[in-house]
Amino acid sequence: MSLAVAPKPAIDKQTTYFRCIAGCPGEHSIYDVIYTCPICGSLLEVHHDRQPLQQRSADQWKQLFESRASTSQWPYGSGVWGLREWVVPSLADENVVSMFEGNTNLFWADRLGKQLGVPDLWIKLCGNSHTGSFKDLGMTVLVSVVKQMMAQGSPVKAVACASTGDTSAALAAYAAYAGIPAVIFLPAGKVSTAQLIQPVANGAHVLALDTDFDGCMKIVQEVTKDNSIYLANSMNSLRIEGQKTVGIEIIRQFNWDVPDWIIIPVGNLGNISALHKGFQLMVDLGLITRMPRLVAAQAARANPFYESFKNGFKEKSASPPSKPWPMPFASAIR
Ligand SMILES: *Cc1c(COP(=O)(O)O)cnc(C)c1O
Ligand SMILES: [Zn+2]
Repeated sequence: MSLAVAPKPAIDKQTTYFRCIAGCPGEHSIYDVIYTCPICGSLLEVHHDRQPLQQRSADQWKQLFESRASTSQWPYGSGVWGLREWVVPSLADENVVSMFEGNTNLFWADRLGKQLGVPDLWIKLCGNSHTGSFKDLGMTVLVSVVKQMMAQGSPVKAVACASTGDTSAALAAYAAYAGIPAVIFLPAGKVSTAQLIQPVANGAHVLALDTDFDGCMKIVQEVTKDNSIYLANSMNSLRIEGQKTVGIEIIRQFNWDVPDWIIIPVGNLGNISALHKGFQLMVDLGLITRMPRLVAAQAARANPFYESFKNGFKEKSASPPSKPWPMPFASAIR
């Protein structure tokens, strides 16, 4: 008797795939509708095998990325897709959904630096973007992968998220650009006009619910269970692949010099994880030899991560926080 072995599904040329962040065995196609590890329920991450990327030297990568940085050639005019081999190598040109995001300004904040006693202070203005936040960098990747999934006959028909603002603005804009319906769940009366107007103007289905963000999150997870609506909240790790380009871009803008410290405002720490992931790839491929030190900054009135850090991370998850937080001073960090 012989055992039948199921054929392995075609995985993104076998070099880029989802895997469990807790280390469970198994590779999943990034074109499958899957958000968490089927074995332990942890988040997934997009893993890039290093070997195919090591076929170019560090200098060749630097030259390639520099040559694309100011081009209008599709899709390299985007700060994300200029790094496409490191983001989603198997994405077809015609499925890239991009408004040439990224390549944001990094400038010397001389006077502020002097006030703070930091002589060489620089600011990376990621919010100079289509919808006003770095969320655009992640959404170009997520919506592009969805477009390719749909082109390949996936059951996905729409994208959805729960949001207090920036995520929904970015998702709605990229979905509109791609012609994919978007459904936005937000807590009624708790979203600023500037952020609310964007999904409405971009033709998304906007549902204001009498609950908080966590209540919206529960509902969007229910609604996306049958796989016809794709979940775009930050548990979807495709967004990390776009956001990690911010760190790589900072280092390119410093002529491949590594800054000592990078301070990042954090909510659920997706963005700071993304930057770390990008730097790790740069170290592995020899573009840099040391990591910058990353500092997670939270507002004192909305600081579950800081509280968790003080408790020695006894609670496994900082997101969603175990207790509701009072109104912070800026609505986006609610
Ligand atoms: C989403 C967002 C954050 C928080 O990012 P995380 O990935 O949740 O840590 C911070 N600032 C702005 C402007 C944002 O849009
Ligand atoms: Zn697992």
